[in-house]
Amino acid sequence: MTPSSTLPASAQRVQDALTALGFDNEVREMPDTTRSAADAAKACGCTVAQIAKSIVFRAEASDRAVLVITSGANRVDETKVAAHLGETLGKADADFVRARTGFAIGGVSVGEPLEEMHRVIAACAPLLPEDRPRYLMGVGTDLELLAGIASGVDLFDCVMPTRHARHGALFTRRGLLKIKNARYRDDPRPVDDRCSCPLCVRQSRAFVHHLVRTKEITGAVLATLHNLRYYLDFMADLREALTLGTLTALADQIAASYAGGAA
Ligand SMILES: [Zn+2]
Repeated sequence: MTPSSTLPASAQRVQDALTALGFDNEVREMPDTTRSAADAAKACGCTVAQIAKSIVFRAEASDRAVLVITSGANRVDETKVAAHLGETLGKADADFVRARTGFAIGGVSVGEPLEEMHRVIAACAPLLPEDRPRYLMGVGTDLELLAGIASGVDLFDCVMPTRHARHGALFTRRGLLKIKNARYRDDPRPVDDRCSCPLCVRQSRAFVHHLVRTKEITGAVLATLHNLRYYLDFMADLREALTLGTLTALADQIAASYAGGAA
């Protein structure tokens, strides 16, 4: 830790804030989460212990909303985490804090196997307060969004629909369609016959195949419009199913549709 006397005023304010949070000491004690399940559990304990102090500090220092992020290890004992979280959030249960607090799940879109990602989401989401927004960071495909919603997640953000579009990967109700493939060179069908985007209404797979293969910017634009329209419609369907209590039936229907393939 740098001696306070050598810090400029702005850095000192940051240092004071970190010290007030107890952050400095706990970071130095925090173990490497890649070493073992025991270390991961200890790191998780450090994080959870920090939550209440952080929420209160931020809520008192600003009128902005605060998103608490649970992030890091994927080898923790869910039962112990639940106990920690319940105890910690209980301490932060004042109305003025809860009114401006949401909860995020992070660190589950960084290359781990999908089944591991789904296990962590399914374990974490139900532990977070039901009456506050639950946000899954950096996820994901349409099916990953569906899995998150089934576990109780409310919010998402991800570059996937637009980045995939720029690389010619188009989401459809029958799965991912890779429009660069030669099989679509003369295909007269729309990308998705249930989609209302400008690409699907007016153009064929063959047309967008040509645009994307020749790196015409119009191809990236149309593909982006399609993927964004697809995501909006997909989420609208999920919201309706949640309202009607038919999410499980819709998930089964989506899985069956995907099993047939995109072409
Ligand atoms: Zn479309």
